[in-house]
Amino acid sequence: MLLWQSQIRLGLAVLLGSVGGALALSGVVPTVPAMGTITVLGYALTTLVVSLMVRYTREAGRAAIALMVLADVALVFGTTYLVVPPVYYGRALLFGLAIVHFAEFYFGRAPAWGALTAIVAGYLAMIVTAEAQGAAVSWLQELWSLAVFIVAGGALIVHYGNYKQRLARIVTLFERAEEGDFTGEYDVRADLYPDGITTVGRAYNRVRLHVANLVLTDALSGCHNRRGFEQHLTRELSRAARNGSELALVALDIDYFKTINDTFGHLAGDAVVQEIGELLREVARAGDVVARTGGDEFMLLLPETNAAGAFRVAKRILERVASHPFQGVAGKVPITVSIGLVVDRIRDENVMHDLHARADEALYAAKDAGRNRVSIWSSNLRAIAVTRAGQQLLRLG
Ligand code: GH3
Ligand code: MG
Repeated sequence: MLLWQSQIRLGLAVLLGSVGGALALSGVVPTVPAMGTITVLGYALTTLVVSLMVRYTREAGRAAIALMVLADVALVFGTTYLVVPPVYYGRALLFGLAIVHFAEFYFGRAPAWGALTAIVAGYLAMIVTAEAQGAAVSWLQELWSLAVFIVAGGALIVHYGNYKQRLARIVTLFERAEEGDFTGEYDVRADLYPDGITTVGRAYNRVRLHVANLVLTDALSGCHNRRGFEQHLTRELSRAARNGSELALVALDIDYFKTINDTFGHLAGDAVVQEIGELLREVARAGDVVARTGGDEFMLLLPETNAAGAFRVAKRILERVASHPFQGVAGKVPITVSIGLVVDRIRDENVMHDLHARADEALYAAKDAGRNRVSIWSSNLRAIAVTRAGQQLLRLG
């Protein structure tokens, strides 16, 4: 911003210099006072220094912003002092209000308050100098003008700053939504005096639920999709890491699903996926997360669940699948699933990848061991507990 503004500022300096020079040459003013030349050249020089600072450091730092705002204030007071009689000094406050506005608009609250303070100080200095040079000054009127300026400038900073802050909050919500994170909501109730930003915030809240549903849900099974699942997993892992609690991850894959598709057709296969999704959501407790993470793969996240609890859930799933009359295949073939599960006490929230891999590893072990069974991951996967629907056997080593 400072870079493109510097071109406007230099243009302004050239304009002021040309007008001053033209007036002097045409005899309207006797000569261009040295102070005028110094003010305009000083302003142009400061602008050049600031734009070099920004180019060199590749950022508009606080010093660069403060210097530029102070230069604006100095230009207004310098030119006012030189060309305006003391009775019209109040004009400097009008320009000052514009400076406060631009400072708040482009740079934020701190530079705007800085500008307001500098303008008050500059105005007082100008009045004191005029009085010292013999001008009649009504302090009551001058202080009144200053008070009006402070109230107007202060109100602008507070009001507009608040507006910008709320706008920034909405921008952050949209940025998070762009990343697939729809957890944030615009706090409409915090806006005591609702305005245009409140309307946008309310609209975002309405759209958020709809889009979150589209983006995070798997249309066929009605469960979360992979993205939705990973969001929940990230959140639950950091919660479990904070509390040092246990968490179970269950990976499930339909057995011989390709054959089901080949025998009964893709639509029948889709119906099986849909029914398994429903069934898993029925088995899950409130707080569990069920997702379809691939073609015929599902995952369940069971927070605050130990190995015995997770094993019970997995067994119940096997039993429910075994006894369910799948509409898609009209009960012509038994549908079974294989399940791998991992249970861990979470101490570090960055274990998502490891947990996923372990659940998959356990799932492959269940497939290898003959399918339609549950396998629990352990540090040595040759030592696993394996169960089939209806029976339980422990294989060690
Ligand atoms: P396994 O017991 O080893 O899991 O054997 P499988 O035949 O189930 O093998 P795999 O899990 O690799 O096969 C998945 C199949 O699921 C392959 C693909 O054609 C099918 N599939 C993937 N997505 C969909 C879908 O949305 N609908 C249907 N109907 N089929 C799908
Ligand atoms: Mg499969």
